[in-house]
Amino acid sequence: MTKTRRLQQLIEGWKSCTDCDLAIARTKVVFYRGDPGARMLIMGEAPGVDEDNRGIPFVGKAGHALDDLLQAAGVDPDDAFVMNRIGCRPPNNRVPTREELKACDPRTAYMIRTVDPGVILLLGATAAKLAGVTSIGPWRGQPVEVDLKGKSYRAVVTYHPSFLLRQGNSPKLQRRILSDIKVARAIARKGDRPK
Ligand code: URA
Repeated sequence: MTKTRRLQQLIEGWKSCTDCDLAIARTKVVFYRGDPGARMLIMGEAPGVDEDNRGIPFVGKAGHALDDLLQAAGVDPDDAFVMNRIGCRPPNNRVPTREELKACDPRTAYMIRTVDPGVILLLGATAAKLAGVTSIGPWRGQPVEVDLKGKSYRAVVTYHPSFLLRQGNSPKLQRRILSDIKVARAIARKGDRPK
């Protein structure tokens, strides 16, 4: 079965998910955007208001910032696979609880395993926890690992584009994120399968 078909099947069952309380207030479950055959998988935290309305991740201000950063680092956003750690918007964009993360974990893992990327770029603290990283500063821009029962993926953590926006697009922060994306890009390229 193709990756796209496997993801479609996942989405069919996920659309009406009530595994946690976020189901009460959400408009749409948010799945992914981009290429299921991508070498780079990019993971954010949770949908915001724009994503909740459209059912697509990273389509609001943070999404535009992300696309600009990717392009500046030489990554075409359409060539990446973009998803969030959880599928539903937490009220007022609060950080997802441990229970909410746990409820979504099996689907998050299934998406990663289906895409089977060469590298995972983890944006911000919630995504970074997937690699056991609890503080971005000391760990950013270097290879870390995401272990999903029996399969390990190379990953890179960096700051979330929403943080960059909150910091008024600080040039220093921007340079750091760009450099981290380039590290991830190099890892993805190194693992390119021969044509
Ligand atoms: N929008 C998303 O889709 N994910 C985030 O982490 C933030 C904004």
